[in-house]
Amino acid sequence: MPEVKIQHLDKIYDGGVQAVYDFNLDIADGEFIVLVGPSGCGKSTTLRMVAGLEDITKGRLIIDGKDCTQLPPKDRDIAMVFQNYALYGHMTVYENMAFSLTLRKEKKETIHRKVMAAAEILDLKSQLNKKPRQLSGGQRQRVAMGRAIVRNPKVFLFDEPLSNLDAKLRGSMRREILLLHKKLNATMMYVTHDQTEALTLADRIVCMSMGRVQQIGTPIELYEQPANTFVATFIGLPPMNMFEGRVQDGKFVSELFEYPLDENQRQILAPYEGREVILGVRPENITRDGQIKMQVTNNENLGMNTLVHGKVGVKNVVCKFAEWCSYKHGDEIEIGFDSAMMHFFELPVTDEKGNVSEYGKAIR
Ligand code: ADP
Repeated sequence: MPEVKIQHLDKIYDGGVQAVYDFNLDIADGEFIVLVGPSGCGKSTTLRMVAGLEDITKGRLIIDGKDCTQLPPKDRDIAMVFQNYALYGHMTVYENMAFSLTLRKEKKETIHRKVMAAAEILDLKSQLNKKPRQLSGGQRQRVAMGRAIVRNPKVFLFDEPLSNLDAKLRGSMRREILLLHKKLNATMMYVTHDQTEALTLADRIVCMSMGRVQQIGTPIELYEQPANTFVATFIGLPPMNMFEGRVQDGKFVSELFEYPLDENQRQILAPYEGREVILGVRPENITRDGQIKMQVTNNENLGMNTLVHGKVGVKNVVCKFAEWCSYKHGDEIEIGFDSAMMHFFELPVTDEKGNVSEYGKAIR
């Protein structure tokens, strides 16, 4: 079974930049893992260490029971799909897909069978004699995947494969990749900065920031139970609203409002009495029957629901109401929070320069 075990991986580039700290992950056979995080968080470096395109500074990589830490890429039995496709312009689609098999000197009939099977899966049979430049972006992306499929690798690696495509095509390619994953039942590791891709594609998401894993879990776990303030605001769009305040006499007290805590919240927050905490509320968990005054700045109708932007005092707040609303700039509304869906976090730890060195841990 092609399981992947990634153990205590560190990457320090020449020159001393540490891009990845102690990355640990066990990927099950057939699992679809998405590495997500902002630019520079170390996700491509991690993927490239798994691929063998970057040396592993420290740690171990085991694929299908075999220690691959020091193996060259060609011996790892993985296939990588890149964002720029890396297709050969002078070759036809067929030749592009056949290329790695030709290099391996496989028999002509075997190559033909594998290429035709991949073309069938990817709906490329009518395109086999074309050159890449005669194809659309989506088709080129499929050829790039075809080149990976024909090799029947143990693990597929994807490095931001959809970021060159327009929004609509990204949506349809996302669905194609999901179908492909089902059809092939393959182990996949996929890198993106796009939280929507992570939520829609992953069996499990690995959310990274500053070279460190911040949380690993299913999409719903990361959405409903973010481990810290980073994951809380990175996953979900528009992002979670965050309010700083303190716990006092059974209430959350901020400069902007006071909010009574329910029995459950009082219990959880009892150890924090008198201390500063952060309250997080997703836009869709804001209600219109509370007592916090919000000045509307913007009303965006999305069809099924409305994003209402506004200010509570000096603080920008986004609400997502499940109705068609028609507020105008300057309207005052009264909002509250769905108490079952309120999140609390400790304050982030900052270094002497004021930069966050550790995100605020979830309190639950
Ligand atoms: P991501 O894929 O999340 O955008 P990367 O893994 O590409 O992030 O980069 C992580 C960090 O490592 C960044 O600070 C980046 O500048 C640095 N880095 C990436 N590649 C190199 C390299 N070849 N040499 C030195 N530093 C690098």
